[in-house]
Amino acid sequence: MTAIGFIGLGNMGGPMALNLVKAGHELTVFDLSKEAVDTLVAAGAKAAATAGDAAKGAEAVVTMLPAGPHVESVYLGKDGLLAQAGKGTLFIDSSTIDVPTARKVIGLAREAGMEMVDAPVSGGVGGAQAGTLTFMVGGEKAAFDQAKPLLDIMGKNVFHAGAAGNGQVAKVCNNMLLGISMIGTSEAFLLAEKLGLDAQTLFDISSTASGQCWSMTSYCPVPGPVPASPANNDYKPGFTAAMMLKDLRLAQEAAQSAHAATPLGAMAASLYAMVEASGQDSIDFSGIIKLLRGEL
Ligand code: NAD
Repeated sequence: MTAIGFIGLGNMGGPMALNLVKAGHELTVFDLSKEAVDTLVAAGAKAAATAGDAAKGAEAVVTMLPAGPHVESVYLGKDGLLAQAGKGTLFIDSSTIDVPTARKVIGLAREAGMEMVDAPVSGGVGGAQAGTLTFMVGGEKAAFDQAKPLLDIMGKNVFHAGAAGNGQVAKVCNNMLLGISMIGTSEAFLLAEKLGLDAQTLFDISSTASGQCWSMTSYCPVPGPVPASPANNDYKPGFTAAMMLKDLRLAQEAAQSAHAATPLGAMAASLYAMVEASGQDSIDFSGIIKLLRGEL
């Protein structure tokens, strides 16, 4: 049994923390949302009054926060995790954030005598609930080895991607591809509809043909073919369009700094920015199909 602090109990962090509790670990949790904390407390976790308090006495701390500024504010400063945790604490940041912030916070953690990895995930809320996430981990091999038993509880595939920040590099590349493929899948279903081909028939054919991709087979943007996809639940997230836009912007920042040509990534970011401009970016990212339908 490990004493674990867990901060950020949202769509992803909530079920991830629950899996650690179910595996018999002792969790102390914190989130700005009382409702999110109450759910974990009902499952057997202890509530902390602040993020720093959740780190006190913890052997490992997991964070699952929205973006880089949230990670900086939770980790740094006199009330932050690095100041409040004991030396030797292992930090696992599973948030999807920009590479420079990940490298900066990991550097500061190591200076303070802690081990830390960036360990963003793929697999969505379904994967978080089922404990089948894919973890992409950056950091020292020793820190990776220490984190792996905990990541194995929350995930099915755990990859060491190399040095600090490389988990975020893998994640940003993966999500740029995901954003592009979701738009492409949506376009294909809309075109089929206009040409008189029903969604289930296109799904049956394309899911076994060369257009097959995760956006279609696991997260289909039209209701029907994949019962668990948010399209069947009025595009309730899931993974919000706002989060996808964040990731696409991270990819564009990274592409600019690396002088990489990513024209489809740029187009995907522009389309999700239009969802944001419509004021409806709290819908699931597969709701981009509504923009293409002219419904946003
Ligand atoms: P979310 O908005 O549902 O959850 C974030 C949680 O962090 C919220 O409960 C919020 O109250 C809490 N929080 C924010 N600031 C805080 C602070 N200062 N102290 C304590 N708690 C704070 O987001 P999510 O969907 O769970 O995503 C979390 C991260 O995981 C993001 O970086 C996202 O890009 C990434 N991600 C999400 C998915 C998905 O399908 N939702 C998939 C893969 C990766």
